[in-house]
Amino acid sequence: MANGLPDINVDGLESFIPESRIEELLKQKTTDRKQVEDIIAKSLAKNRLNPEEMAVLLNADDPEIVEQIKEGARNLKKTIYGNRIVLFAPLYVGNDCINNCTYCGFRKDNLELVRKTLTMQELEKEVRSLEAKGHKRLIMVYGEHPRYDPEFIAETVRKTYATKEGNGEIRRVNINAAPLDVEGFKTVKAAGIGTYQIFQETYHQPTYRSVHPSGLKANYLWRLFAFDRAMEAGIDDVGMGALIGLYNHKFEALAMLYHTIHLEEKFGVGPHTISFPRIEPAIGTDYADHPPYAPTDEEFMKMIAVIRLAVPYTGMILTAREPVHLRNEAIGYGISQIDAGSDIGVGAYSGQDEVSSDKKSQFVLSDNRTLDQVIGELCEADYLPSFCTGCYRLGRTGEHFMEFAVPGFVKRFCTPNAILTLLEYVMDYASPSTREKCLAAIDREVKAFPDDDPRKPVLLARIEQVKGGKRDLFF
Ligand code: SAM
Ligand code: SF4
Repeated sequence: MANGLPDINVDGLESFIPESRIEELLKQKTTDRKQVEDIIAKSLAKNRLNPEEMAVLLNADDPEIVEQIKEGARNLKKTIYGNRIVLFAPLYVGNDCINNCTYCGFRKDNLELVRKTLTMQELEKEVRSLEAKGHKRLIMVYGEHPRYDPEFIAETVRKTYATKEGNGEIRRVNINAAPLDVEGFKTVKAAGIGTYQIFQETYHQPTYRSVHPSGLKANYLWRLFAFDRAMEAGIDDVGMGALIGLYNHKFEALAMLYHTIHLEEKFGVGPHTISFPRIEPAIGTDYADHPPYAPTDEEFMKMIAVIRLAVPYTGMILTAREPVHLRNEAIGYGISQIDAGSDIGVGAYSGQDEVSSDKKSQFVLSDNRTLDQVIGELCEADYLPSFCTGCYRLGRTGEHFMEFAVPGFVKRFCTPNAILTLLEYVMDYASPSTREKCLAAIDREVKAFPDDDPRKPVLLARIEQVKGGKRDLFF
């Protein structure tokens, strides 16, 4: 560690992303519906697809085949995961950055951005504001800068867990921060982080070089092997992603599958979540207004359905960068986590200073609904919003994998925990109209819970306990 930044060492590392093989795979087209059917069946039988199979799905453009793929994704989502959607909020801690990513409002040379790093007191205010709205799960976000060293990140995480407002508390803190060295990862793990999330942005090296001209981030391999170092440090819960619009989105999707296979082979576990943020406009950042490889909405939705089928055990995140109608459509294809009530200005939740949040934001959000609105709308659409953190708190890591792999896990653990956390929201935070919608959803879920399940009386008793003021009950 030098000046708060890790000492980068990539000696002996070689990329495990076979770029020319991916380009080759992307040239192979199929019009064979039976082949597509077989691939979808393999996924529905809970098997990860191989790159050749994923490429067949990505390359298909016959509208009927595309519909077959989307239907397959919807089926997988319904039969394996059910109707729960996990909710979280981003919390931007600081927007200082030594890098110059051409697409990002935080880049070093952006003079239009107002720089801000929360003090511990300001952080506490932000956390209180989020708790006062009902949030229980956060992702904390940092630029890459010597002041955001592992000890600082760990301190912000500890502060967040320690801050309580009324019945409110943050029960899971995930982080999205620049790649650390193994020691650094150990430090942030010890502070109790949930998922370590980092996006490769693009797996295509020539593009990577052109959009990351300077700073530590210019080193492709240092970033590519970030999860290896995190796992060596004992963090087995990692969130992968590619920034969509820098290069061909199909290439990125296949590369993420290769990255997944690398982690499976080396550590026996793939990523906990996959994200595919699309580039949004950003202050003082022309590049972000015209991303060179922006897929259409239709292409983007199809990519999400294909990823769902290719890595059926992985959680998928879609953030408020996307507009409401696309978020709703994508939830049907298997998105398992969304943010709600998000503001990405540093200090914005508690309105801590007079500079407009846009001037401190990394990019512009499209879905500006409040948490309360999102919860109400999800309930109305027959989804079950969840703030559950049970697995993580009981040391059951790889929760999403268990939902997938352990028969009956969703029914026995996830659904009752979702019901109990939604009821907490109703008791402490919901507006009158959202309250009605939530109670109707809870009633629906309780009725659907089998009467002969020995957990049912326990669930009913816990529901009464939550109504009576108890909090944080989980299976
Ligand atoms: N600074 C760290 C890094 O780059 O890894 C972590 C946080 S960065 C603030 C979070 C992510 O935001 C980036 O990894 C990138 O994918 C995404 N991002 C950057 N600019 C964006 C834009 N204009 N639109 C949408 N997402 C963007
Ligand atoms: Fe800095 Fe991350 Fe933005 Fe790049 S994406 S400029 S590293 S905050």
